[in-house]
Amino acid sequence: MSQRPVSELKGVGPQVAEKLARLQIFSLQDLLFHLPLRYQDRTRVTAIGGLQLGQDAVIEGEVKAADIVMGRRRSLVCRLQDGSGTVTLRFFHFSAAQKQGLAVGTRLRCYGEVRRGSSGLELFHPEYSRLQEGMEAPVEAYLTPIYPVTEGLHQNRLRGLVEQALRLLEQEGGLQEWLPPELLAEHGLMALQDAVLLLHRPPPEVSQQQLLEGQHPAQRRLIFEELLAHQLSLLQLRQRIQALQAHPLQGGETLREALLARLPFSPTAAQRRVLEEIDADLEQPRPMLRLVQGDVGSGKTLVAALAALRSLACGGQVAMMAPTEILAEQHYRTLSDWLQPLGIQVAWLAGKQGVRERREQLALAEQGQAGLVVGTHALFQEEVRFQRLALVIIDEQHRFGVHQRLALKAKGEQDGYQPHQLIMTATPIPRTLAMSAYADLDCSVIDELPPGRTPVETVAIPEERRPEVIDRVRKGCREGRQAYWVCTLVEESEVLQCQAAQATAETLSALLPEFRVGLVHGRMKAAEKAAVMDAFKAGGVQLLVATTVIEVGVDVPNASLMIIENPERLGLAQLHQLRGRVGRGATRSYCVLLYRAPLSQMGRERLGIMRESSDGFVIAEKDLQLRGPGELLGARQTGLVQYRIADLQRDAALLEPVQAAARWLQARGLDNNAGSLIQRWLGAREQYGQA
Ligand code: ADP
Ligand code: MG
Repeated sequence: MSQRPVSELKGVGPQVAEKLARLQIFSLQDLLFHLPLRYQDRTRVTAIGGLQLGQDAVIEGEVKAADIVMGRRRSLVCRLQDGSGTVTLRFFHFSAAQKQGLAVGTRLRCYGEVRRGSSGLELFHPEYSRLQEGMEAPVEAYLTPIYPVTEGLHQNRLRGLVEQALRLLEQEGGLQEWLPPELLAEHGLMALQDAVLLLHRPPPEVSQQQLLEGQHPAQRRLIFEELLAHQLSLLQLRQRIQALQAHPLQGGETLREALLARLPFSPTAAQRRVLEEIDADLEQPRPMLRLVQGDVGSGKTLVAALAALRSLACGGQVAMMAPTEILAEQHYRTLSDWLQPLGIQVAWLAGKQGVRERREQLALAEQGQAGLVVGTHALFQEEVRFQRLALVIIDEQHRFGVHQRLALKAKGEQDGYQPHQLIMTATPIPRTLAMSAYADLDCSVIDELPPGRTPVETVAIPEERRPEVIDRVRKGCREGRQAYWVCTLVEESEVLQCQAAQATAETLSALLPEFRVGLVHGRMKAAEKAAVMDAFKAGGVQLLVATTVIEVGVDVPNASLMIIENPERLGLAQLHQLRGRVGRGATRSYCVLLYRAPLSQMGRERLGIMRESSDGFVIAEKDLQLRGPGELLGARQTGLVQYRIADLQRDAALLEPVQAAARWLQARGLDNNAGSLIQRWLGAREQYGQA
């Protein structure tokens, strides 16, 4: 029955169906998985004398008085009495008929919240019904579910529909149990049907507290299954990719040694270890799918370059993609500097390129002269073709969605061979998230910074003390240092953000006439941006005013001071990224968080974390706790799916057992169970995984 459409239920016509669709309810099963937000206890009658403030209660009694009272607002005040005491019912809106119905001597049953009113404990606008003399009215047998509803579809209506579905479920069954008995036993899980029935009709003795906290075994059962379905779908995606073919890549030592010989430093142990992990993947005849996490400044670019050299040594082209033009351009320059001397041509593709230049660069990629092609998402475009693409490197993965990740994969396919994929991110992904959102990837962590870095000292200063901050910039620049001034705005509008940056640049340049102030923002032409960045790098510009476009990757070691305006509006991970632009040289660096008072409690906590920690992983974990996974990764961008019942934060402890269960199903080849679970919980959504 579970896959049948809701329209089969009595009372569901096109209009109701459309409203249900707004709640993502299409099938009977969707309705069964549409769980209550909370419950009301109407299963027992509370003695009036025992009512507690704040309690929701059912009471019964006799009306002793009913009068219209002219207070600040006209109200109908009704005194209800049982053997234990008296309480006031107060109505601000009432009709004459209603008043008559509450005549002295009437027996009522009421349900409502007990509040403090002018006469002591009162129930405001309680639900009520009249009790017939000598007739025992039954109380509810179960806790009353309160569902998430939508406009035009009321609680009682929805409750009635769920009841219909539950009755069908009881009569026909139909929520097939896809978890084998061994798994249920091992993880102490309830049977699915029992869990669903219990959650819609909890018996009176069930702890409401436990239900509210999502800790009831019936909830745990559904959460477990949902998480498992997601985990299985990622594993399936991964298996599908691993079943594909790729050219095994080996060697490249000569090129690598030539590059390292020209660098003023040697790789850290962590860089070497991660490169070994990458090499082991590249040697396989199936595509690598590896995520490299490394805090800002940990040297991911070098690892990428060394991986690229192996591909190039084997005659395979490499595409390297970055999320912003500034970053792509910076990669282009760094990698050109590193690779051109080894005889490797590097091409460059960006959105805002001139037609002729673009055509030239496209030809270099297509005809294979360019070993490495660096670019923004422009690399995804239709007309970009490669001669023999063997490795795709994506920097700062969290800005590219799963979709884009897969689009580039499709692009790389040639003669049935897939390119290897290396994904690099500076946003440390807390383990819980990595386990659920990236189960399709292998992970490596560069857990060490190159030697000689000094931690950035971070202070939070309120906006009123801006002049002091400007003095500090002046002093720093006089000492020959450079500074970033980052403008942020809460508005999504890039235009406004750029205008704000422009205004700030003008003000600062008037206040600091002895220094050159540069400006970069997202709406400038690539060449203009590059000119400013070059001047900043060369030291000709001392103060760089920027929007968050400089967030990622920009590398100017002499810049040792950063001011971030309105830091309270940014995510911690983003602040950490920004701050990572300083502290790249040997001099002590500072980051000033110039906030607007008063800060919210959350704002204070977050800026506190930034002051106390410089460890990207610690910061990301805290950010996850404070803001939730969607915010951290950008739910839409990552394709990080919305769960129906599970909550990654609340249910983090289940992730490990869920992984074990997923592997258990896989190891036993229970593909049908896995497929059915995926279908049940992800349905159509899972399809995009194949895109
Ligand atoms: P990120 O991981 O943030 O992308 P980058 O690759 O931009 O970091 O590297 C940051 C800086 O550290 C660059 O200037 C880079 O040349 C330098 N670097 C990379 N590896 C090392 C190393 N092993 N020793 C010293 N400096 C390094
Ligand atoms: Mg980088």
